[in-house]
Amino acid sequence: MAVPALAPVLEHLTPHDLVTYFHCPHEMELHWQSRARTLGRIPPSPHAPADVVPLRHSPMFAPPLGHLEVNEGRLDVDGADRVVYEDADEDDLPMLFPPERVQRDPRFTSGPGNLIDPEFGLSGRPDLVIERGSGEFVPLEYKSTHLFVGYHEAHGRLFDTVQAIAECRLVHATFGRRPSHGIILYGDAAGGGAREGWVRIPYDQAEEQWLKVVLRQIREDRVRAPVPAERNCASCEPNSEGLCRFAAARYEGPHHRQNFLATRRL
Ligand code: SF4
Repeated sequence: MAVPALAPVLEHLTPHDLVTYFHCPHEMELHWQSRARTLGRIPPSPHAPADVVPLRHSPMFAPPLGHLEVNEGRLDVDGADRVVYEDADEDDLPMLFPPERVQRDPRFTSGPGNLIDPEFGLSGRPDLVIERGSGEFVPLEYKSTHLFVGYHEAHGRLFDTVQAIAECRLVHATFGRRPSHGIILYGDAAGGGAREGWVRIPYDQAEEQWLKVVLRQIREDRVRAPVPAERNCASCEPNSEGLCRFAAARYEGPHHRQNFLATRRL
């Protein structure tokens, strides 16, 4: 009797992995090593060979940016909206909803609370998932930085867009309804709200297709080369632990990358 062929096991990825790979493929793998050590597991060996040629840019295709909607000011929430998911590990999220409108889905209130998509081999935790009055589920990611000008520039908040698209897919896979968009909320409290803003990132066929392509691209990349550059290395966490032999700059802290990019726009 013929034995049915097993589907190949997909290398597991998270929205954070996609963002990190977009900075530097080698950084993504060093993160995995670091996490394995923290969990007391044997760290996986990075793919990058000893004689790897460093790259100037990550090979990852940029996400579609054509229909982003950039909004200044506070995010309006409707009286019929409610929170159905919250990342329990995030303790600096703003109070967007009164307690009576936080009604977490019990599927995600025990254990790690990850949203899991077995079809795409993806899992992760948006900061919030909002169920709108219309019945739509929308992921929201909170950033404590400000909505600076130049969002559409090539090196702007592309990283946040990558994360939002992957989180839309996770919401689609776990809540069973396809979101039309994800939200990135920039909540810099300085200036009495003058620096706040939010971006509506569409999630349509083009974004889902892009996601499929980059997941395949990452999984097929057997080199995962370093991209040594100040904008990357100075905010690279594995670099803070002295894990990278290609580092082009000293570690300066987690916000260096955004500050660096912002100064390039002034
Ligand atoms: S230090 Fe630089 S080259 Fe090394 S992994 Fe980090 S970002 Fe990549």
